[in-house]
Amino acid sequence: MQNNKNLILWVELLFALLSLWVLLMVPSYPEYAMAVLRVYILSMIVLTVSLVLVVRRYQSQHSSVDMNRIFDMVDRIDTPAFIWASDLSMMYGNHAMNELLGISEDDNGTHALELNRFFHDIGLSPKDAAEIMSKGTLSTGMVANGQKHYINWSTSLMMQNDIASLHFSIGFETTELEEAKQSLSEKTETLAISENRYALSMKLSGVGFLLCETIHNGCYNEYYVSKEAQEFLGITSDHISFHEFRKKIYSDDRYKFDNYIRELEHPDPEAEPVPRVMELRIHHEMGKPFVWYAYHYHANLVDSNKIPIVGGALVNISEEKEKDALLEKYAYQDEITEISNRKKLIEYGKECYAAYEKEHKPYWVMVLDIDRFHLINDSCGYASGNKVLREFASILSKYQDQGKQDKPGLAARLGADNFALLMHDYEDDELPKHKLDLIRKDFAKLESGEFASLSLTCSAGVAHLPRDGKTFEEVLEHAEFALTICKGELSYLMGYDAEMHQEILHQGEMEKSLSDAIEQHHLQLYYQPKFDLHTEKIMGAEALIRWIKPDGTMISPNVFIPVAEKSGMISDISNFVLREACQQTGLWQKEGLSPIVMSINFASGDFYQANVCEVVQHELDSAGLQPKYLELELTERLALGDINYTIDQMNALRAMGVLLAMDDFGTGYSSLSYIQRLPLTLLKLDRSFIIEIETDSVAQVIVSAVIQIAKSMNMETIAEGVEYEGQSKILKDMGCDYIQGYLYGKPMPAADFRKRLEINTYGKEVS
Ligand code: C2E
Ligand code: MG
Ligand code: MG
Repeated sequence: MQNNKNLILWVELLFALLSLWVLLMVPSYPEYAMAVLRVYILSMIVLTVSLVLVVRRYQSQHSSVDMNRIFDMVDRIDTPAFIWASDLSMMYGNHAMNELLGISEDDNGTHALELNRFFHDIGLSPKDAAEIMSKGTLSTGMVANGQKHYINWSTSLMMQNDIASLHFSIGFETTELEEAKQSLSEKTETLAISENRYALSMKLSGVGFLLCETIHNGCYNEYYVSKEAQEFLGITSDHISFHEFRKKIYSDDRYKFDNYIRELEHPDPEAEPVPRVMELRIHHEMGKPFVWYAYHYHANLVDSNKIPIVGGALVNISEEKEKDALLEKYAYQDEITEISNRKKLIEYGKECYAAYEKEHKPYWVMVLDIDRFHLINDSCGYASGNKVLREFASILSKYQDQGKQDKPGLAARLGADNFALLMHDYEDDELPKHKLDLIRKDFAKLESGEFASLSLTCSAGVAHLPRDGKTFEEVLEHAEFALTICKGELSYLMGYDAEMHQEILHQGEMEKSLSDAIEQHHLQLYYQPKFDLHTEKIMGAEALIRWIKPDGTMISPNVFIPVAEKSGMISDISNFVLREACQQTGLWQKEGLSPIVMSINFASGDFYQANVCEVVQHELDSAGLQPKYLELELTERLALGDINYTIDQMNALRAMGVLLAMDDFGTGYSSLSYIQRLPLTLLKLDRSFIIEIETDSVAQVIVSAVIQIAKSMNMETIAEGVEYEGQSKILKDMGCDYIQGYLYGKPMPAADFRKRLEINTYGKEVS
């Protein structure tokens, strides 16, 4: 439109100039013609000039109408828009613009604004305005009405004349977009931070990932390996095949991995998709020590249509394992031998029982005992005793199943000299005996150096899991019981059977009631007189224990002493007998009755106590009794022990002044030559010789010979179980010193015996 108007003006001007040229350049026309022409030309010039003026006027009128229309149109735009001159002299802003800038339209009817101020308000300089003119677009951020606005201005040239050009700028509010962008960038930043944190925490927490990804022939056979996991495995690739991964696993743990692969290949459709854990020892580098890792994985292939991600996190658990090992050491390791203790065996055994119920792999439980271990301990000292225990433990460990399977065997120390070996059955009934023979063979090899004088042997009881018990504890208990039976039988291996079970019950009941009897003082001492064949007076007594139940029934020591010996209660009984007998003898002496020698029966277990001298001395002192009035009766079972230790112990007691008798002589394993080496003061001929002595000439010869030999060794002799005068006479003739038997009195309560002592002292009863 503007260009068309200019073209008309140019055409008009050209026509006026052409007319003037014609007027000046053509003087040769006739005068009148010239005059007419001049008039014509002049009128044409006047017309043209008038026309130009009219056009100009029209033009000017027409242009101002356009501007108003334009302003009107700009006002109707509901987004901020303004018209401005390039010399920044004026501006016209629409309603939206004024609203944005907070300009009241009443104050400024023309909506005109100072452009300088506007640009200043939006933080731009005139230079920026020039830039807008050249580029056409500009994004601004401005605070209006207390709110931040982002506006994208688009500017175009509206009109141009010689002095200035007029521009039209329209703004599109991009505040929402900007804010979204900003929040996105903040979120991106947060994400980046959290990703960094994630990467860092992965690194610091030592978690790596192994994901089964690649599938060949319908099976997973390769892992994707995360960066951390690559470090764990000592690889640089982010993939590793199952085969290569398996090679990195410590050989004893590979079966776990094989089970896992089996699970992947044959998933249990019923199985819950729960995470599982597989603890593996992995070699970072072959030949280098392994590191413990826990692989927490999901292996759920229930949905066969899709390929689920199977895999999980690999976590370094070396520290935990070290702590576990330390805790395990304190809780589950025997201090002396450093093999598993009873607690560990029981926990592990329970696991084996549970495994049996699933996999039906049976076990043997063998309980072993070092024969006469107390002798080793007492004679060689505790340090040597411990050494033997350690050696024995290492032999057992040697014969423990090695860890090629899920639940390998286990060697444990149950306490004292008792050990256990848990082993797989392999359907071989001879296996326990075979293993025990090997153990015994190795153990016997230690009989050199400081243990040269000892015979190192062991015995064992064995029970079968699950045949011999419904729980592991029951199986173990039965193996232990088989061992106690085996000891009594003098055989070195005994298997558990049902008959033994009855015996267990019987013995268990007996033990229980005996222990109650001790507590409730149902044990009592009876005294049997010992008669001097020379003076024909009572010279002593034997203290014999009686268990008298509240209903008056009496239980023979022949019944309960063996039970007490097995259960260990014998030492309580012996201490009671020693104290009571000493007190009683001392009391009678203090009461003025003729002093007598009190004999007490000493079990071999009591005798081998390291502090036996101290115990005896203590009781003598507290009873105010001289040692020469106390006689300890030992049995020939001492012969089973270590002879040197026996002699030392006896010498120590003799040195105290205590008398020592060999009880039941002739029934045991000891020979006279053996007896000769012992510092005994008295030989007690067993009742079995005496019964026959009147009728059996062989018995007479033996008894006579024994009496003579004893005399030659400065030992006195006493005959037990003398019931008849004839027996007494024969014995006296043979030179026997004393007799004990029903002939002179049955074992009796203290009060009755006191009466006998009164007669002995005063010739009559006095009380
Ligand atoms: P022992 O030490 O040989 O005791 C002698 C046993 O022979 C006693 O049996 C006694 O009553 C019995 N006896 C004595 N004279 C005669 C007789 O003329 N004829 C018959 N038929 N028997 C006679 P008791 O009291 O039943 O003791 C049995 C065994 O129990 C004892 O044999 C001893 O080995 C053990 N015993 C008894 N008391 C104790 C004790 O306090 N401690 C220990 N460790 N063992 C004891
Ligand atoms: Mg006796
Ligand atoms: Mg006897």
